[in-house]
Amino acid sequence: MKKLLIATHNKHKLQEFRLVLEPLGIQIVGSDEMNIPDCDETGTTFQENSFQKALWGMEHCQLPTIADDSGLCIHALNDEPGLFSARFAKENGGYPNTFKVLFEKLKNQKDWTAHFTCCLCLVIPKKEPQFFVGNVSGHLTTKPDSSLSDFGYDPIFVPDGFDKPFGALPADTKKNLSHRGRALELLIAYLKDNPLE
Ligand code: IMP
Repeated sequence: MKKLLIATHNKHKLQEFRLVLEPLGIQIVGSDEMNIPDCDETGTTFQENSFQKALWGMEHCQLPTIADDSGLCIHALNDEPGLFSARFAKENGGYPNTFKVLFEKLKNQKDWTAHFTCCLCLVIPKKEPQFFVGNVSGHLTTKPDSSLSDFGYDPIFVPDGFDKPFGALPADTKKNLSHRGRALELLIAYLKDNPLE
């Protein structure tokens, strides 16, 4: 079976990759089970960070590796927290408090639209890195709902065409329309023509 490292310590991201890639007969391993230390993220774009993390993972275990760099871009806040989505939540003491901070920043704004973006980087020893980008548009709700998932900003992000946040949608539904799901569709199309060896 083909083996692929998903260079992440985020169990929610890993779960979303497993859901899509394991049915294709790919064995997925994550950074925790391979004992890979955290990677510095010093890039200034999602693409740079995804490349840094993918290379770091591949150098540690010599496996084909995918890394994901993603974030929530809030339009009225000049696309913040964007690249800094994880760090912003940490600085604000976790997600529930981060949501309060965001609602306070947005309280006088009419525009609560936002999008999630995801850049995937695939690195394979001795091959050129490949990048796949996915986006999903939506808006923020002031009524966080994490009844099915408490992953990051999922409790407050409502994708266009739905009346519930990602956090209240089944994993299969999120998979088909999310930024990560869309980037994964492009990756899978690439793997059809360029199978893992
Ligand atoms: P990264 O590990 O630096 O790519 O951080 C991505 C951060 O963006 C996560 O820790 C979340 O805060 C946020 N994020 C990215 N994708 C999602 C998602 O699908 N749901 C919820 N939050 C997400």
